[in-house]
Amino acid sequence: MIGSDLCKIIDQACRLVGVKDCNQCGKCCTNYGGGGLSASSAEIEWWEIHRPDIFSYVNDGEIWVSPATGKPLDRCPWLRKLPNRDKYICRIYHDRPDDCRHYPVRIEDMIRDDCEMLEHKDLANPRKAQRALDGLMVNSRPPVLS
Ligand code: SF4
Ligand code: SF4
Repeated sequence: MIGSDLCKIIDQACRLVGVKDCNQCGKCCTNYGGGGLSASSAEIEWWEIHRPDIFSYVNDGEIWVSPATGKPLDRCPWLRKLPNRDKYICRIYHDRPDDCRHYPVRIEDMIRDDCEMLEHKDLANPRKAQRALDGLMVNSRPPVLS
């Protein structure tokens, strides 16, 4: 658990270089949820035991596959748009794949995906921005920069 002082410092650093909190725009899930994700065998085994509803969308190690047709889905089945808002939620947020948990990993990915955590005007120093992003994601994935 990060201490509150460290949280404040990371938050200030992120603001300085233009990396901000996720605003649930849903672009990453839309971009990757239909065939762009993978899951480890450990994740799949865990779903099989604890979340059979998620496991039902796994086929031969691939996600996400329609349980009804056995065909890959064009869109993630767990993505939901909030009524009357331009925001999205993940219905399996706490048990989502690590692929989703780790996003965004690199500043280049965010630029390509038009991720709204990024403020392009402040991208004069991508390395600094990557450090700030690594700080923001400290509880989700290992840092890109050591
Ligand atoms: S599982 Fe959740 S986080 Fe991952 S693509 Fe689907 S809605 Fe997004
Ligand atoms: S694209 Fe970026 S801002 Fe939008 S939901 Fe994904 S992580 Fe959040």
